[in-house]
Amino acid sequence: MRRCDVVVVGGGAMGSAAAWWLARRGRDVVVLERFEQGHLRGSSHGASRIFRLAYPEPEYVRLAREALPLWRELEDDTGAELLTVTGGVDHGLPGSVGLVADALSLCGVDYRTLAPAEAAERWSGMRFAGPVLFQPDAGRVHADRTVLALQTRAEALGAEVRFEEPLESLDTLGGAVVVRTPLEELRAPVAVVTCGAWAPKVLTTHAALPKLTVTQEQVFHFAPADPEHAWPSFIHHRDPFVYGLETPGEGVKVAEHHTGPQTDPDARDFVVDPAGRDRVAAYVAEWLPGLTLPAAGETTCLYATTATQNFVIDRADPLVVGAGFSGHGFKFTPVVGRLLADLVAGEPGLPRFALDGR
Ligand SMILES: Cc1cc2nc3c(=O)[nH]c(=O)nc-3n(C[C@H](O)[C@H](O)[C@H](O)COP(=O)(O)OP(=O)(O)OC[C@H]3O[C@@H](n4cnc5c(N)ncnc54)[C@H](O)[C@@H]3O)c2cc1C
Repeated sequence: MRRCDVVVVGGGAMGSAAAWWLARRGRDVVVLERFEQGHLRGSSHGASRIFRLAYPEPEYVRLAREALPLWRELEDDTGAELLTVTGGVDHGLPGSVGLVADALSLCGVDYRTLAPAEAAERWSGMRFAGPVLFQPDAGRVHADRTVLALQTRAEALGAEVRFEEPLESLDTLGGAVVVRTPLEELRAPVAVVTCGAWAPKVLTTHAALPKLTVTQEQVFHFAPADPEHAWPSFIHHRDPFVYGLETPGEGVKVAEHHTGPQTDPDARDFVVDPAGRDRVAAYVAEWLPGLTLPAAGETTCLYATTATQNFVIDRADPLVVGAGFSGHGFKFTPVVGRLLADLVAGEPGLPRFALDGR
């Protein structure tokens, strides 16, 4: 039996970020990750994720703005290069892009609106529709490198990060947590549960988690016709939304948002849906003339989505829960880690991220 201050269950982006903050605060932390380091079965693998401040909801604009200096703090603390600023564009449905502009204005965040022709001149590999909103602080974060840096630094600060050791059972007894793995029983006053798509299976009745829809999403990388072309991170507001960004060494990532089939994280097939592949290729042919067909690479990944697409970052004593990142959580990783560590310390959570019934 091992006693510690905090057990973190799930060593993806959010669990690793919580461990980093907790270890920095001198807590005795044990992280349990069921798969090997760097595995490809969850939501946090791959070389790129969009970082942006451009959201239609002011609360997410503010949260992303809080995350920006924390990315730099993480880079300083780990010596890893994680966030690259490239600028970002939102274009397409005027009403939808307009909501983003309103939220940025409300929060006093800098942006410019360009005409499609002006934008196409600047980013000649792309075609644009409707108003084009350019936000200069956007860019990309390196997902794999971030998770590895968080885990390595948390370990250097004293945390125990265990791979291929799954939680098998979770009990809450007398205000404490008992976690059993195939190897050991762990006891702690609090556990942070950050199990991504597996959260409902791990939490069962221990917390009133809103319904999570788990989908297998797919992304494609295309080679740029001209390697000199500059590529912003981009979101095309249409139905369905298409997003993309440059991934050094792999090309330009292009993908649909929320079109993947529902799946069970323990029984998924990792197979790219051919119809989805064809839709994205047709999109590239029409809107991204700077890219060459067919795709140079493809992969799948899991979304765990709440009905509102709001995150769950809350406490159900003696558990702290981070779940439902709904396909848009990575950019917030360092601030989500802090919010989870604050909840461990007994600080209140943000009402928008509350568990059901709170
Ligand atoms: C295709 C795709 C594109 C995306 N693009 C963006 C983007 O551009 N910008 C952005 O901000 N976000 C993006 N996201 C979202 C972002 O990647 C996720 O929100 C984030 O990675 C979620 O992290 P997590 O730690 O909650 O989940 P995960 O990384 O899945 O971590 C959960 C961990 O829990 C472990 N686990 C599960 N059960 C157990 C158990 N019983 N015991 C121990 N461990 C267990 C799993 O093995 C896993 O490692 C994208 C996601 C996908 C899939």
